[in-house]
Amino acid sequence: MTVITRFAPSPTGQLHVGNIRTALHNWLWARKHGGRFVLRIDDTDAERSEERFVEAIRRDLGWLGLVPDGEERQSARFALYEARFENLRAAGRVYPAYETAQELDLKRKIQLGRGLPPIYDRAALALTDADRAQYAAQGIAPHWRFRLDHDAPIEWDDLIRGPQHFDPATMSDPVVRRADGSWLYMLPSAIDDAEMAISHVVRGEDHVSNTALQLQMFAALGAPPPAFAHEALLTGSEGKLSKRLGSLGVDAFREAGIEPEAVRALLARIGTSDSVEPIVEADALVDTFDFARFGRAPARFDEEELRALNTRIVHQLPYDRVAGALPAGMDAAGWETVRPNLTRIADAADWWHVVEGPVAATEFDPDDRAFLAEAHRIAGTIDWAGDPWHALTGDLKAATGRKGKPLFLPLRRALTGRDSGPDMAQLLPLIGRERALERLAIN
Ligand code: GLU
Repeated sequence: MTVITRFAPSPTGQLHVGNIRTALHNWLWARKHGGRFVLRIDDTDAERSEERFVEAIRRDLGWLGLVPDGEERQSARFALYEARFENLRAAGRVYPAYETAQELDLKRKIQLGRGLPPIYDRAALALTDADRAQYAAQGIAPHWRFRLDHDAPIEWDDLIRGPQHFDPATMSDPVVRRADGSWLYMLPSAIDDAEMAISHVVRGEDHVSNTALQLQMFAALGAPPPAFAHEALLTGSEGKLSKRLGSLGVDAFREAGIEPEAVRALLARIGTSDSVEPIVEADALVDTFDFARFGRAPARFDEEELRALNTRIVHQLPYDRVAGALPAGMDAAGWETVRPNLTRIADAADWWHVVEGPVAATEFDPDDRAFLAEAHRIAGTIDWAGDPWHALTGDLKAATGRKGKPLFLPLRRALTGRDSGPDMAQLLPLIGRERALERLAIN
């Protein structure tokens, strides 16, 4: 079987951490099985769908490295939906209904008042041709419901939730098409999943009951159903995903200096039995990805965890990956020197200023001034092509008897203007002889 997954966002807003996670899981699963990952733009709702969001979705997936193997748009597929709908109508699997929203609401209230489940009573199935002609004569168009087969119990083995069972008699026949002819999400999605030979539908557990209904749609369409994996939703570290966290998307990540590798490493593993690790290479995430490792409990998204993970990711990123984001002139040696001190790539510029100068002037006491004068003298004598830091500190130690902090700290302060930072043995060759001599000449 060819594995084909799809990510099916509605272009009514930006991607946020929840649907980024869904996209990632679909991508990982397809990659793991050498399959295809399709981006399906669910834009049947012309009023709420916007082109700028379609573009943003593509851009965001690109940034995350989740490049689709193909893209489809529901708005380009209306003729197909129409044809399938016509077949279902001829087969009596969709039927016209005329109740207004108020009427339906009243029916539900009455059922609830009687202690009955608020299921659609199928009154529309009892209408005669004459009844329907009367509605038509009044200019009232029907909406359309999918007729569930009450005799066919709904079952599937969910890749995350395990065996699922629904009794169709306890569910309302879902409305699939509005009176104005526009489509609700449910039927076009099933038609597309069938037509595109989607092998696995991976989505949030808020879709579980939709799946129950859609399984009957697959049967009615004469299509084998895909496998399903419904993931537990994301929550914040203290319960429900807050509005702020829930709205975190690629723009917010980028602004915070969070790298796509960190987003992937976190979202691939939270909610699973595998620990979150600073894994840069997507292939390593692909290898360990398995729905069998997903728990049923909500996955906890913790912004602090993402930041900490990001730091550990940044420390591993190779020069080629970050070169475009580095200050002019900073080469691979520069990057590797400052990398362990960064929490964000953008901060490399601060350290590059330290290399290029000028550095902040520091006040030194007379002892340190004498010590630095000696350092300046020795710096003029050492071999700068080799390992200048060890040459300098070795000679200084011998000349002054200083060691440890009193030896190193005044040097670091004079050479960098700071008390801490990257390894001096790596940094000093970047600063170079000329600048070092200038900075040590503090008297
Ligand atoms: N457009 C639907 C949504 O955003 C797709 C759900 C699905 O994956 O089937 O919820």
